[in-house]
Amino acid sequence: MITMKDIIRDGHPTLRKVAKEVELPPTEEDRAILKSMLEFIINSQDEEIAKKYNLRPGIGLAAPQINISKRMIAIHLEDEKGKLHSYALFNPKIVSHSVEKTYLPGGEGCLSVDEVIPGIVPRYARVTVKAYDIDGNELKLRLKGLPSIAIQHEIDHLNGIMFYDHINKEDPFKPVENSFPLEV
Ligand SMILES: [Zn+2]
Repeated sequence: MITMKDIIRDGHPTLRKVAKEVELPPTEEDRAILKSMLEFIINSQDEEIAKKYNLRPGIGLAAPQINISKRMIAIHLEDEKGKLHSYALFNPKIVSHSVEKTYLPGGEGCLSVDEVIPGIVPRYARVTVKAYDIDGNELKLRLKGLPSIAIQHEIDHLNGIMFYDHINKEDPFKPVENSFPLEV
């Protein structure tokens, strides 16, 4: 099982690489890795398991964060309405997005970044993502709110981008045009 010691931290070169496409249909090995990534996120949200294994709670994980430079991400979270969004995806790609942006007023965090980096991280308010599920079936997701923010954060990892790259360096909380804060 994946634990915090498997997660590489900011400064590791793999976090800055563009990850490779996963060959489809996925191999058993890639499927097993992706499954364990989703399992880690689910475990990290379970108070007892998290305490036992010293897991920091997270809502998403990208394969480069466990030093595997392949296009695989896992997300597990409830949206503002309490609907569960649980995805394990190969080769996710944003195929369209809103012009309008949104952001978390408290900023974003990352399992690979141990310190708090405050500031507005603008994200598209709505995205349509094409991807392949654990069995290699193509799917399309239309996401808004927290799931939309989370998937953009994870896809960024596949392109070597960290959340704080999006923060305005001179003025971290400078209002962003055509954006609204997401209340979660
Ligand atoms: Zn992250």
